[in-house]
Amino acid sequence: MNLRDWGWNDEWFREFRPHAAEGWVPGRVIRQDRGACETLTEAGARTAEPSGRFRHAVESGAADMPAVGDWLALDPRPDNARAGIEAVLPRRTCLARQDAGRATRAQVLAANVDIVFLVGALDSGRGFSLPRLERALAMVRGSGAEAVVVLNKADLCDDIGGFVREAQSAVPDVPVAAVSALEGWGVEELRSWLAGGRTGVLLGPSGVGKSALVNALLGEGVQATQEVREAVAHGRHTTTRRELFRIPPEGCLVDTAGLREFQPWAAGAGLDAVFPEVAALAAHCRFRDCRHEGEPGCAVQQALGDGSLDLRRFEHFLHLRREQDYQVRRRGETAAQAEKEKWKPIARLQKELKQRRKRDGRA
Ligand code: GDP
Ligand code: ZN
Repeated sequence: MNLRDWGWNDEWFREFRPHAAEGWVPGRVIRQDRGACETLTEAGARTAEPSGRFRHAVESGAADMPAVGDWLALDPRPDNARAGIEAVLPRRTCLARQDAGRATRAQVLAANVDIVFLVGALDSGRGFSLPRLERALAMVRGSGAEAVVVLNKADLCDDIGGFVREAQSAVPDVPVAAVSALEGWGVEELRSWLAGGRTGVLLGPSGVGKSALVNALLGEGVQATQEVREAVAHGRHTTTRRELFRIPPEGCLVDTAGLREFQPWAAGAGLDAVFPEVAALAAHCRFRDCRHEGEPGCAVQQALGDGSLDLRRFEHFLHLRREQDYQVRRRGETAAQAEKEKWKPIARLQKELKQRRKRDGRA
């Protein structure tokens, strides 16, 4: 197996040197389960599990459990045993959400994704929304990946140019591509974004055609559910769904259940999910309800001061918080309105009953 087909390059090679000196081999995670990882190595697919030392590092918070897309240093061990995970190479990018179990820790959904395709649909339904696009873009920028806006189902649209211009004006520095997974046009442009062994991911609401695009990119004759066979104890085999795909000629695509359910722009997804580093700092602010806008003892302002928190990220945080505050206010108003509407027929009924009783009393 040529790892360059899976995104390996000279930079990773340099990064790996100290691990090579230990006799370890590189492997990329194509699927992560609770205790083990499916990886691809030069010698082929290998199941790997944390070595004792690595497990200890994870438990003490010094290392992160691997995620799909991570490059690992593996102790090859004999072929019939599981390889040992010794280290995770530093991530170039990271798509994460807040880990529900640990207040200040992010759960990494995918690592080393170079390019995020933000997919919408020009089906005159709810497949295209500028505010959603802007929010998603803020999340992508925080991850370190590049973004490309993909307007799918362009075959259903009479005014493609108009929508492209509208999207382009909302996100001037991001490429916008109109495509049709159904008719197959524009797909080659997406493919070209993955040239040079880059790894992409498709994000967008359900129904916009992400699966159709994945299939179009995989090409004919390739099953969307490329499976890997894992040898388990007692010689039995299980099949697991692979979550990192090769996109010919020279790219990869991440497609995991976690990411499919991950809608960073959904109301309530929470700023903490998008800005785990701000959330982690906020835990150290003197005031629990600190807004990080100049309060004394603010750990966020301090991190901005010493440069350990990126100012651009913090500005995005403030922008999204304003937007979210607005949405929460608006939801509050519509909820009050709905409550009023709910009681209207009952009030009418009570009035009617009262009038009837009055009439009946007179009769
Ligand atoms: P996902 O939920 O984002 O994965 O969306 P799917 O790939 O399942 O597609 C949802 C529906 O849209 C399916 O019925 C597809 O056949 C249809 N669809 C996907 N891409 C296109 C397209 O380019 N044009 C049209 N007209 N329909 C499409
Ligand atoms: Zn603060």
